[in-house]
Amino acid sequence: MAYLSTGRRLRAELEAETEMGLRVEPYLRRGDYVPDDLVWQLVLGWLTGLDQSTGWILDGFPRTLPQALALDKYLHPREEDLRAIVLTVARDELEQRAQDRRECTACSWSGTSSQASGAGTCPVCGGTLTRRDDDAIENFRNRLEEFESLTAPLADYYEDSRRLHRVSGAGSPDDVYQRILSVCDIPEIDG
Ligand code: AMP
Repeated sequence: MAYLSTGRRLRAELEAETEMGLRVEPYLRRGDYVPDDLVWQLVLGWLTGLDQSTGWILDGFPRTLPQALALDKYLHPREEDLRAIVLTVARDELEQRAQDRRECTACSWSGTSSQASGAGTCPVCGGTLTRRDDDAIENFRNRLEEFESLTAPLADYYEDSRRLHRVSGAGSPDDVYQRILSVCDIPEIDG
């Protein structure tokens, strides 16, 4: 499936100092949500360039009700094919994961410091691992507050239209992956 992480794309825009990157910089620095129209511009551009028959995953989108409404309007009349997945993780665990999170600057691998290779480099490509700026504790707490006030209420929107799947995000990435496949009734893809 085609995959877009809006957060990752926004950080890449910032790094490349594009017009979009400069506009979103203050929000990313504070850990505030980026305005809906800017995020939607990015997602719409990505979706319209896709072969719609293969399926896709949006990671970190939608995060607000106006974003969800814009997506449904775009998908209409195929919006019922959409599955909304909320991964639930205890707050302490989330905080711990953000503190331990490392990302590879070369291949975008993301994991914890304990999964790094012995040399402290990326286990996949040997690249340099860094911490995300917005995993600093103050920024992280701000993001969590934004999530609780703006994103958590979105669950009702998807529940009302029977498209919501709550999946426990506890355990390893593999555990979570298997749970998503079974809860969402998605066949496992070979390889
Ligand atoms: P993430 O990598 O998903 O944790 O996103 C990192 C940051 O990007 C968030 O804290 C927001 O500032 C911004 N962001 C990503 N996706 C969205 C979205 N759908 N709506 C608003 N802001 C977003």
